[in-house]
Amino acid sequence: MRAFRAVGGTPRFMVSGTGPYLTDADGREYVDLVCSWGPMILGHAHPEVTAAVQEAVARGTSFGTPGEGEVALAEEIVARIEPVEQVRLVSSGTEATMSAIRLARGFTGRAKVVKFAGCYHGHVDALLAAAGSGVATFGLPDTPGVTGAQAGDTIVLPYNDLEAVRAAFAAQPGEIACVITEASPGNMGVVPPSDGFNAGLKEICAANGALYISDEVMTGFRTSKAGWYGIDGVRPDLMTFGKVMGGGFPAAAFGGRADVMAHLAPAGPVYQAGTLSGNPVATAAGLAQLRLLDDAAYAKIDAVSAELRSLVGEVFTKEGVAHTVSAASNMFSVFFTDEPVRDYEDAKKQEAFRFTAFFHSMLEQGVYLPPSAFESWFVSTSHDERAIERIAAALPAAARAASEATA
Ligand code: PLP
Repeated sequence: MRAFRAVGGTPRFMVSGTGPYLTDADGREYVDLVCSWGPMILGHAHPEVTAAVQEAVARGTSFGTPGEGEVALAEEIVARIEPVEQVRLVSSGTEATMSAIRLARGFTGRAKVVKFAGCYHGHVDALLAAAGSGVATFGLPDTPGVTGAQAGDTIVLPYNDLEAVRAAFAAQPGEIACVITEASPGNMGVVPPSDGFNAGLKEICAANGALYISDEVMTGFRTSKAGWYGIDGVRPDLMTFGKVMGGGFPAAAFGGRADVMAHLAPAGPVYQAGTLSGNPVATAAGLAQLRLLDDAAYAKIDAVSAELRSLVGEVFTKEGVAHTVSAASNMFSVFFTDEPVRDYEDAKKQEAFRFTAFFHSMLEQGVYLPPSAFESWFVSTSHDERAIERIAAALPAAARAASEATA
């Protein structure tokens, strides 16, 4: 994505960031609506996070032993997210989902994993599968380097389709270890779960002895204090986290039911480890960031998101561009269609070429959007009136460019 493959052109090389702004190697300033793909929820170089990092670095950067920082961060996570009874720290969202799936397989003694087309869970071999249509399609590897064997136990289903999930369980009784889903997807653009979808997944998993894994790497600590769980209240068996919890450093986690987590080494037989897991600098950054994320912070982020959504909707309407501003809490994206978008197939029907024109116009005017029509936009507590005014000033010309674009 950062290579601009989806939109063409030359990617910007950023050299510094302050609050809602990024500065590139040519000295141009941009209002940042990517926020490092989610983590920078307080904006760049927040003074309190920076101070916590500097203090931690001065004490040494990695010990490979248990430490105070990892306990404090684990306690903060457990305190915020009630279904997380125990939590294990890792270094990336990919590691978190990979480990959660291994644990689900080890706990249930089953091999198969259900995922949804359009949901991204990092570059775990088994999860880089998004097969074609069909109700219970067996995964085909999405990339060279992933073998059929690695993806063969992955069942890819259409998102928001509980009937497809029921059919998959009926076709493979006793074989499915878990269903993994983005708590509210942001990797096919923002496509929230329809009413009752997550609850339905939970119910189907429970009825069939499988685990329900909610991937909150993107939504966790962003969509509310308790992430998407704080919004829909559906209790997963396992959850995964990353991005915001690392404060801009590599820290991620998975956790959930204590009886399931008890199967993890060293207490149990399912192996998992990491040289830099619970790294003292990363945990200091994450903890400092989470401690600043109180109710007022979420109210601010929600308000910024709402204001931008309405500005964006207004300009596209004015320019007569078919669009849908799709939101899940403060995460949002624009689909260039006025048809409902409920799954990846719907998302792909949009006129993505309009996004390309829109993106480049915004970039030229100093607004850095995610360089793809299939990604969430992210805002932070630091997006103040000046930043919003700069975005508002850029929108009309960019909407016109979208309206004039041709496929
Ligand atoms: N899960 C979700 C929902 C994500 O959005 C991502 C990354 O974008 C990941 C997992 C993988 O996280 P990482 O890039 O830290 O490996």
